[in-house]
Amino acid sequence: MKNVTVLKHPVVSDRLTTLRHKDTQIELFRRALRELGFFLAMEATSKLPVIKSRVVTPLSIEVDSEELDSTRVLLAPILRAGLGFVESFLELVPRAKIAHIGISRDHDTLQAMPYLNSLPSNHEYFDMVFMLDPMLATGNSAVKALEILTKKGFAQEKIILVCAFAVNEGIEQINEKFPSVHIVAATLDWNLNDVGYIVPGFGDAGDRLYLI
Ligand code: URA
Repeated sequence: MKNVTVLKHPVVSDRLTTLRHKDTQIELFRRALRELGFFLAMEATSKLPVIKSRVVTPLSIEVDSEELDSTRVLLAPILRAGLGFVESFLELVPRAKIAHIGISRDHDTLQAMPYLNSLPSNHEYFDMVFMLDPMLATGNSAVKALEILTKKGFAQEKIILVCAFAVNEGIEQINEKFPSVHIVAATLDWNLNDVGYIVPGFGDAGDRLYLI
């Protein structure tokens, strides 16, 4: 297993507990996912390039400083559940562009079936792409989304996959097929059950975020 950063922070552990709890109501669930997203966004954005600049402080002192050009960041949430991290990232990179990637999964074969992508064609403009999906389970959806991104010209080296829960099976599939893609996860879970859900996990992320 390589190219994986796993968060370690007491607030992250607390929000994961809220997300895992079967009785957490929708409002609290959304909030916990959004707050977890802040920590993931902090880590994922830590290698963004900065622009050197100068700033004059209220003491009339001019100092070297650094700025971000967040217009050069692309957020690629995988529908539906990836939307749960968009607001968290926008707090840190407020001018990021957003391209939605819609992938559904066949419940019998667990194969990923793309139905939408609004990726821009000017891939060279972007410094980094944050692919957002709370669950890295089989890895089939993430691989499909990475195929779509790389076919559009986005370099693997510029892509970070951001997830809350990840399991080995998904990580290994990404490592094998996209060895330069980095993964940032809030926690590593045990395994998958026979219908491809993460164990212990937190159930169906999209349903808990939007329907339950
Ligand atoms: N997608 C989910 O929403 N939950 C899982 O456990 C796995 C994939």
